[in-house]
Amino acid sequence: MSEARLDVVKGKNFSSAQVGALTDLHRHQFFHPLAKGRGIPGKLFLKEALGMNGMEVSLNKLPAGQGVPFYHQHKAHEELYIFLRGSGQFQIDGEVIEVREGTVIRVAPDGARTWRNHSQEDLYYIVIQARAGSMAAGEIDDGVVCPQKVSWPA
Ligand code: ZN
Repeated sequence: MSEARLDVVKGKNFSSAQVGALTDLHRHQFFHPLAKGRGIPGKLFLKEALGMNGMEVSLNKLPAGQGVPFYHQHKAHEELYIFLRGSGQFQIDGEVIEVREGTVIRVAPDGARTWRNHSQEDLYYIVIQARAGSMAAGEIDDGVVCPQKVSWPA
């Protein structure tokens, strides 16, 4: 299985890519230092490809019957897990939360976390990492409305 490449379109103030169908996420592999050169399919990080510097985002597909075989914490980042499809279980500091489409879980840096898909169908989720305490504002308070009227090229 070869690494699927992202074609990134870059503009002055944006970068954009088509990652394809969630069901094809296994075409992307993540090479974790502890996995000794073995690629972990189904995890696509976006920070580097899109040139982000304030957050990391990954799109994930965890096949039926699989789980993350370790706990992990973070040094400085909080994480948000957004479950899109399928079901499974998430564990933080020994507490278990049932997850399914629509479940969102924020984990503080210190939380020892792991998760598993013990169901019969694949589990899809997005993970967002950002430095804990880094937000300048919440909701729409950082937004500034531009003066120009909305128009679309014909
Ligand atoms: Zn993490």
